[in-house]
Amino acid sequence: MTPSHQQKPILLIALGGNTLIQEDQRGTIGEQLDNLRKTIRQIARLSAHYRIIITHGNGPQVGNLLLQQESCDQVPKLPLEILVAQTEGQIGYMIESTLDEELMTIGVNNKKLVTLITYVVVDQDDPAFQNPTKPIGPVFSGKEAKNLGYPTIKTKKGYRRVVASPNPVTIIEKREIRTLIDLDFIIICCGGGGIPVIRDGRGFHGVHAVIDKDLASACLAQEVNVDIFIITTDVAGAMIRYNQKDQTLLKQISVKEAEAYIRRGHFKAGSMLPKMTACTRFIHGGGKRAIITSTEALEEAVLNTDVGTQIVPEQSTPPV
Ligand code: ADP
Ligand code: MG
Repeated sequence: MTPSHQQKPILLIALGGNTLIQEDQRGTIGEQLDNLRKTIRQIARLSAHYRIIITHGNGPQVGNLLLQQESCDQVPKLPLEILVAQTEGQIGYMIESTLDEELMTIGVNNKKLVTLITYVVVDQDDPAFQNPTKPIGPVFSGKEAKNLGYPTIKTKKGYRRVVASPNPVTIIEKREIRTLIDLDFIIICCGGGGIPVIRDGRGFHGVHAVIDKDLASACLAQEVNVDIFIITTDVAGAMIRYNQKDQTLLKQISVKEAEAYIRRGHFKAGSMLPKMTACTRFIHGGGKRAIITSTEALEEAVLNTDVGTQIVPEQSTPPV
């Protein structure tokens, strides 16, 4: 018997950048849609047994919009939060239309899908605003960087614009998302970590920052009580001694073990560290199972507890 949708566990899937653009690609729209299809096919199949929320990154896409802005003086430049909103729309459209097609291919014709522009509250006193660390957009030479009119940071590739990456405090649309889940919608939201806003009296306004998509996804996962939180990326999972001869993939570990590895500095800031931190926050917030896996193994990792890195509370067998 097929379970009624209220009985289906809720899965939050945070899609990594390689879902759309792979390492050796330029990121043409054809490449992005081709890549996406492989992941979305797995999600379409999973939707028979799980209620689903999809979140995603936007690094290369927002980088391209910034490069377009830098290359043209004829139209006024738009602030970062508007560019994030644009990428939520463009990537949401790509995910939604691909998902619709893949669902129809497996004979599901009436699934309800929606993409939601999402605001994420940050604290205006977050220390990240005093110490911007997140490089975004195109690469400049040292001389070009001096004339840009905004702060830059020296990276391996050259100078890049640098912005603050504050901690997500709460997702403004959490009630709407919860309602849509109860109505059996598949929801695409929190794209690019969401549009960062700070509270301003009873309202809020956008700020110049980007929120890490893994941390924003963990915040949402806690706030809407998802059962399984899964982060897909371009490696098999979290590894200790990464890039050394004896690197080892972490399999199923407790949240305590995960925190011990974090403290010992096994994960790089800006890539694997936010994923591990996101998973541990989710478990501390009452979550039962958090997974980091390769995009190709998404479906397998949901169905199988020994695929990828799976973080659980103290007990050894996760309940879902
Ligand atoms: P995504 O778009 O999926 O968030 P990121 O580049 O931010 O991709 O994160 C994935 C990357 O994290 C991997 O490609 C890998 O190079 C890097 N990484 C850093 N530390 C580790 C680690 N300890 N184990 C595995 N991968 C790691
Ligand atoms: Mg990342």
